[in-house]
Amino acid sequence: MPSTDRNDILFERARAVIPGGVNSPVRAFKAVGGTPRFVQRAQGAYFWDANDKRYIDYIGSWGPMILGHGHPAVVEAVQKAVLEGFSYGAPTEREVELAEAILALVPSMEMVRLVSSGTEAAMSALRLARGATGRKSIVKFEGCYHGHADALLVKAGSGLATFGNPTSAGVPPEVVQHTIVLEYNNLQQLEEAFALHGKDIACLMIEAIAGNMNFVRATPEFAKRCRELCTQHGALLVFDEVMTGFRVGLHGAQGVLGIKPDLTVLGKVIGGGMPLAAFGGPRAIMEQLAPLGPVYQAGTLSGNPVATACGLATLKEIAKPGFYEALGKKTRSLVEGLKAAAAAEGQPFSADSEGGMFGFFLMKDLPQNYATVMTTDNAKFNALFHGLLDRGVYIAPALYEAGFVSAAHSDDDIAATIEAARQIFRTPE
Ligand code: PLP
Repeated sequence: MPSTDRNDILFERARAVIPGGVNSPVRAFKAVGGTPRFVQRAQGAYFWDANDKRYIDYIGSWGPMILGHGHPAVVEAVQKAVLEGFSYGAPTEREVELAEAILALVPSMEMVRLVSSGTEAAMSALRLARGATGRKSIVKFEGCYHGHADALLVKAGSGLATFGNPTSAGVPPEVVQHTIVLEYNNLQQLEEAFALHGKDIACLMIEAIAGNMNFVRATPEFAKRCRELCTQHGALLVFDEVMTGFRVGLHGAQGVLGIKPDLTVLGKVIGGGMPLAAFGGPRAIMEQLAPLGPVYQAGTLSGNPVATACGLATLKEIAKPGFYEALGKKTRSLVEGLKAAAAAEGQPFSADSEGGMFGFFLMKDLPQNYATVMTTDNAKFNALFHGLLDRGVYIAPALYEAGFVSAAHSDDDIAATIEAARQIFRTPE
């Protein structure tokens, strides 16, 4: 008998017309199995699926919704902007205002260019780094995701002297032959890579608090060494803060670690849920970009007036005094509550958070790199995911993704989440 579940019905329709039924792969529940929830509407800390079931949302569009869904000031700004036109393809005052607001909050950046997605921003930062240094090679780390531009879609090669292998079909090995992939937090590999290839390295790109292998911090020592080696060898240090920017704190991962990168890549929160991203750095490097310099980069919808209105309204809220203290406290209470619940039921568990970003692991100690994260017991994670989903708690449908708390999550939401997890830890399903 055909299912009467509206999510199943929509998924079947979607699969007929969209590959896998989704417009971005991890939404498909491929790792955890089951039917993705089709969102009907969202408000505050919640969304409602096609059956009108409510979920406490710990994804928040994979990071942007730091104020929760439908914050009144943001909605008002977007509504006003829409009435003034959707897109002009000519400059606006609002773009300048957003650029000024970003630069005021990220001191390492003197100039910024707005684009429409994190992928575009990371790809453009990479081109700029190569253009500015006149070098070809780049260093990235296994488990860090910088969007799906060819040169960054690379997994580790078999040894240090070898360069990476394409992660995706459609990426010729020649395209990634200049991408060096190293293990995260592995100082020895880092030293060796610079010793071997230092003079050819245009940039080192890193998620200094990684959110794409769940939540893994670069150790302070490792982050510091990245900075030192880049300086020593004339390579640019690029912090990909698409996820961490305005999420782990008002000054991003660079603020948390006290490290000044050369280039910064931003996205997610700066658009408040609209397609907006950015990259920036020192004036002398940014002025290498067209129309001033030889590095080409462009975009029909870059600095879109509705997206910039959404981003500006969001930045205004998060820059209010005490915002991150409250968000950080709330996120820590979730993490500590989950840890206590797991400990009470004798489950191996570890967890960490910074600002409104968190990760938890079904293992005793916090992992330091991708390979360790991936030793997680899949079946156990999937059972926890589905147990939470049944109880109206929506976490990322893959064990290698971080989670996000918004300003709209209440203490009751956090308590209900911890209680749901406690039930599952007690009676694994
Ligand atoms: N960089 C990081 C650190 C990300 O987390 C992401 C997306 O999750 C990207 C880049 C790519 O951004 P987008 O999905 O907007 O293209």
